[in-house]
Amino acid sequence: MEVNKAAVPVDDDWEDEVEEQLPDRCPACGVNRFGTYLWGLISDPFQEELNAQLSRDEVRIVGCIIDDQTPRWFCRDCDADILEDGRLAPTEVRWEITYESLAALEESQAWKNWPAVDANGFTALYAYGPDGKMGYWGMVWDTAQDMRSTLCQNMGGGVPIEVIDKLVSFSARIVPKQD
Ligand SMILES: [Zn+2]
Repeated sequence: MEVNKAAVPVDDDWEDEVEEQLPDRCPACGVNRFGTYLWGLISDPFQEELNAQLSRDEVRIVGCIIDDQTPRWFCRDCDADILEDGRLAPTEVRWEITYESLAALEESQAWKNWPAVDANGFTALYAYGPDGKMGYWGMVWDTAQDMRSTLCQNMGGGVPIEVIDKLVSFSARIVPKQD
């Protein structure tokens, strides 16, 4: 018989249940630091322990609409969502320039080899940040090729192709699939 766990109210047993069903490692990144999605109505959302767990990102509260694609846990490393049976929740990869990808870019050899970096004091934020010269901040691409094409327009704005390729490779991230 199938039990609709969504209908089971959150109670003192939920932690035991979670430990029994968690995968050993995140199916996306292999790390094993997980947080829990609390399903359904929380009887007292303001209790102290829950607030502390929320603030440490150990739990997240999802709404009352639950189906078999609703994640049960999330990876605290890569943010992948994991279903009750341990499989990866439907997710997809998107490409987007972030502070993290720009920081990684500045550490790359391709960036350090770009003469303008030394000569003009360019930073990755100056080129690609929220107020950057290139204006790509906030754009989201479905594929690495799409992102590369955009960044290569107008000769890449003078940015070497090696730098563009690096930025593309650092900009992939996993997001929940949108229906
Ligand atoms: Zn992960």
